[in-house]
Amino acid sequence: MKQTLMGNEAIAYGLLHANTQMISGYPGTPSSEILTTFEKISKNLPVYAKWATNEKVGFEVAYAGAIAGLNTAVTMKQVGLNVASDALMSASFIGNKGGFVLIVADDPGFHSSQTEQDSREFARFARIPVLDPATPAEAYEFAIKASELSQKFGIPVMLRSVMRVSHSREIVEVKDFNFEEKKGSFKRDIPRWAAVPRAGRLGQAYEREKKLKEIAKYSYENFIKPEIEKLKGTKNLIISSGAAFGYVKETLDELGLDIDVLKIDMPYPLPLDELKSLIKHYEKVLIIEETYPVIEEELRSENVYGKMSGDVHTIDEMTKERVLKALKNVGFYKGENIYKPAFENNFEVISRKPNLCSGCPHRDIFFAIKKVFRPKKSIYPSDIGCYTLGINQQAIDTVLCMGASVSMAHGFSIADNKKTVIATIGDSTFFHSGVAPLINAVYQKAKFILVILDNSTVAMTGRQATPERAAPGEVDLKKVVEGCGAEVMEYCYEPDIKKTIEFFKEVKKRYEEVEVPLVVISRQFCVLDKERAKENLKGVFATVDEEKCVACDVCTTQFVCPPMAYNEKGKIEIDPLLCVGCGVCISGICPTDAFIRRDK
Ligand code: SF4
Ligand code: SF4
Repeated sequence: MKQTLMGNEAIAYGLLHANTQMISGYPGTPSSEILTTFEKISKNLPVYAKWATNEKVGFEVAYAGAIAGLNTAVTMKQVGLNVASDALMSASFIGNKGGFVLIVADDPGFHSSQTEQDSREFARFARIPVLDPATPAEAYEFAIKASELSQKFGIPVMLRSVMRVSHSREIVEVKDFNFEEKKGSFKRDIPRWAAVPRAGRLGQAYEREKKLKEIAKYSYENFIKPEIEKLKGTKNLIISSGAAFGYVKETLDELGLDIDVLKIDMPYPLPLDELKSLIKHYEKVLIIEETYPVIEEELRSENVYGKMSGDVHTIDEMTKERVLKALKNVGFYKGENIYKPAFENNFEVISRKPNLCSGCPHRDIFFAIKKVFRPKKSIYPSDIGCYTLGINQQAIDTVLCMGASVSMAHGFSIADNKKTVIATIGDSTFFHSGVAPLINAVYQKAKFILVILDNSTVAMTGRQATPERAAPGEVDLKKVVEGCGAEVMEYCYEPDIKKTIEFFKEVKKRYEEVEVPLVVISRQFCVLDKERAKENLKGVFATVDEEKCVACDVCTTQFVCPPMAYNEKGKIEIDPLLCVGCGVCISGICPTDAFIRRDK
């Protein structure tokens, strides 16, 4: 049946088609829709589809299923693989019985990530095969192939997508399939499954080397040879893989160039002998891949050009213009750049900084923290998630990776003890990676304040459920924090900035008295969480009394709610379409009380 599917949805269908019985993962753009879609389409089937507290946990849950003989998968974004990499390195040695597909969605150009990474490089590092789909339809096919390959060779197989594959749509032929219920059965085999010293692992290492050679041969016979047979034998060759192949194909068509193109579906392991003997017949070989020079490093030779020779850009996404530039650099094209802007820009597009949503309670917390703990006397480490957007209020000094707000707060408290350290983290991120550094800080009697902005959802990636939300009463954030040995203060959010500031004054007093980290749990809601937002937004819409506005900038630099902007008269105006009616600005953020209630 033909369906228009987003790449991530196509992967979910492929996994179901491959009879995947367990799937786990941690949300992260651009990967989040894979698990959500799988959950939806497998609703009445006997499958396990659940979010884990972090990528390593998700990996290990699914991997245990694969050791017990089930077909399983785990999903994450590229930076999530850093977290799961410890488990990956061992799993690659040990192998699996059922299929185990590691799905990683990369973000070339780091549109919604802290770094740009190429997970194919991680596959090469971990010595596991990786499939690199170019389109959503291929993502569907490759999800099935990845599971089959993993079962055939007993090794984890990575399915690496990129944002443009994960988030684009295509008509996909979803084949008929029968889902087969299966129960796992773990068979004890200590030398195989227990990664214990050397003797057993040496054997596994040799076994893996052998498997990789067989997989490279399989890749040549099944993926590469049929493509080589289609080549016309021109004097130049382009080798490409994944989404980069789409850019190459379109660019060559649009420039009217007739150059041989070889598409590599499995960038690791490569059948090196066969490929090296192929490239000898060409005058020049240009390798165009996204993001790192993974294939290029393997095929390095005098007639090979690419990122390493400086002919292809190294950072940021691929574009057709960048392909054209590379073609020019190596002399495959001598004409004009046809990718000039489609229209002349005769207007200025106003850039807008990333900002918390209108009515988001995090904004009030950041505003109050800065009021009570003045920037000159404080350090504000923060974390990955919506609260990163507090940077707009200058209420954040550092962002490193998941959970680092807690460990960095500890570090700052040692390195610069004249300042008060107030760290911020979300509830999901705290469960992900904040617990271990908090334990570390408690036992070392570190002194800092950690504010957990608990909105009980993983908001930024599409509001996936957190442990506390999914199991109310069973996973209690406050008890977890108390169990770590930290002092806890709770605040139930109110849309009244004066009350929030008063609460943080209390926090400041309590901080003077304690000898361990002081954790504030701020119970909030997310404005995108329809049910809770309905309960919490009071329908108090704001406008500005222009007479009172003295253009002091407090609202536009300290509070920064999206509807607030200066008008032509130099006074603040509120865009009624963007105001969600939280009423907080009216409660006292303006020194001249210029915000007033507006009749609807
Ligand atoms: S805080 Fe009040 S006085 Fe200052 S710019 Fe905003 S509305 Fe005007
Ligand atoms: S009431 Fe004020 S703070 Fe709330 S959304 Fe509207 S402008 Fe923003």
